[in-house]
Amino acid sequence: MDRQKYQELVGTFFEWNQAELTKIFSELLSAVAAEKSLTPAQIMSQNYETARANPEIHVLPGNLKDARDAIFPYFWGTDSWNNPLHLENVRGPANQASLIGALACLLKNPNLCTDRYSQRSNELEVKAITTLANLIYYHTIDPWGVFTIGGTISNFYGAKIGIERAIPGAMQTGLQGHRIVGICSQAGHYSNQTVAGWLGIGTENLIEIPTDENLSMRVDLLDEKVEELLSAKVKIAYICATFGTTDGFGIDDVKAIRQCVQSRCEKWNVPMPQIHVDAAVGWAISMLTDYDRRNNPLQFEPYVLELIQRVQSYTEGLRYADSVTIDFHKMGRGHYPSSAFIVNRREDLKYLARSVNDTPYFSDADARRDPALFTLECSRPAIGPYAVVASLNGIGLTGWQMLIARSLEMAQRLKDRLSKIEYCKVLNAGTTGPSVNWWVLPKGRNAEEIFQRMVRNELTEEQRSRYAREIRHLFDKRLKMMDPALDARLGFTTSFGYCPHGINIPAWKAVFFNPKTTDEMVDRIATSIEEL
Ligand SMILES: *Cc1c(COP(=O)(O)O)cnc(C)c1O
Repeated sequence: MDRQKYQELVGTFFEWNQAELTKIFSELLSAVAAEKSLTPAQIMSQNYETARANPEIHVLPGNLKDARDAIFPYFWGTDSWNNPLHLENVRGPANQASLIGALACLLKNPNLCTDRYSQRSNELEVKAITTLANLIYYHTIDPWGVFTIGGTISNFYGAKIGIERAIPGAMQTGLQGHRIVGICSQAGHYSNQTVAGWLGIGTENLIEIPTDENLSMRVDLLDEKVEELLSAKVKIAYICATFGTTDGFGIDDVKAIRQCVQSRCEKWNVPMPQIHVDAAVGWAISMLTDYDRRNNPLQFEPYVLELIQRVQSYTEGLRYADSVTIDFHKMGRGHYPSSAFIVNRREDLKYLARSVNDTPYFSDADARRDPALFTLECSRPAIGPYAVVASLNGIGLTGWQMLIARSLEMAQRLKDRLSKIEYCKVLNAGTTGPSVNWWVLPKGRNAEEIFQRMVRNELTEEQRSRYAREIRHLFDKRLKMMDPALDARLGFTTSFGYCPHGINIPAWKAVFFNPKTTDEMVDRIATSIEEL
């Protein structure tokens, strides 16, 4: 080998060339800043044909600028979602404290499998998990958890513990022909299907309990279902309650769910299923749990204080969970992936534990420090802990309270505006969160009356599909007519979660995760509807 060329190669790609790196980072930063002059989602169109037809690898070693140039068009052509007109879904702009954390993480590139491969980054994960656990469970004694690559995987952990509770040793022996089910609400996230399918329970054995009009699981129907299942000797692995449904922010009553399931399990003398709470979206409102409404140090408006009062009654329910899913990359405005799976009692991780014999190349692993002994993943990124600890401490609890309250405030403002338009109907008026789901029907229709008739099942199939077409058509019409520099980008869901008589109800949707969205932008949504 030409040693000189080899040394050049190593020097270019494996030394810290601070000046060169800083220059390129600063160029990338300038490119991101230039997004400000653009409207959302219109940066550059894709060229998928060439992506497949022209796979690419340079022949000769280059330099760091070649690395930059190779990715730059795709980087430029990707929207950072910093624009305050992005309201389509549960995605916010990532905050800059998280950026510092995530970049720091990339520079060290720890692997959280064992503490030998991650040293103090492993300690940071413990700190991040414990901090989040204290927000969620309030005063908890012995929580533990790990960061995963997403809410889906965090829910997967909760469900897996449930299977081990119901069929001890299933990790080794499999499901042994038992009929085993998981339960969630009809408004639960589709990751519940993914989890049931991938865990071998089968999507057909995921039981979805209908919700009330506030997207909260009907505990009376849960009670009936649990009784029916247990009397048929079916094993219930887990209940996955939702704390903040993705579209409408429905919140399940975890305390009532636990009490109901517990009394049925006692009656039939079977082990309790795992009570897992999917708080992927909703966890963040627990920043407001301790807010002093009486002295109101942040001077929130009276209607915001009322919203906070409701929030405080909801977050109490989280204390009844065995485990929770928290997506910091959603309302935490953190970088992907920053999802956490947290158990309230560390001993529950025994259901996932493997012995050192099962993990040969971690032969010196110690269960007290080395997550690889119970995690699904082997190599595990540390972006989550870095993004979380940097964001929580950069922004501070008070800062978070302002951010979350502002989201609630904007959602309420839009709800109030829309409820004054008779051909609109706010569908999630009774939930307290950052999202709004609503109908827009043609002028002249009474949306409230149509909705009530739908709930009472008085509409024919034909009428229902006509109204659904109208709602979609007006959404598409606004999309065609909108001024991308002025009008917010909204989302659309074919079923917002409440399904009276099994009917899927479509909805327009707006989610207020961007702190830079203004009152004028919110009001303009209502005006743009009136102009249709
Ligand atoms: C987003 C979401 C998930 C899935 O989380 P990912 O991080 O996207 O995998 C699960 N549950 C709820 C309620 C969600 O909103």
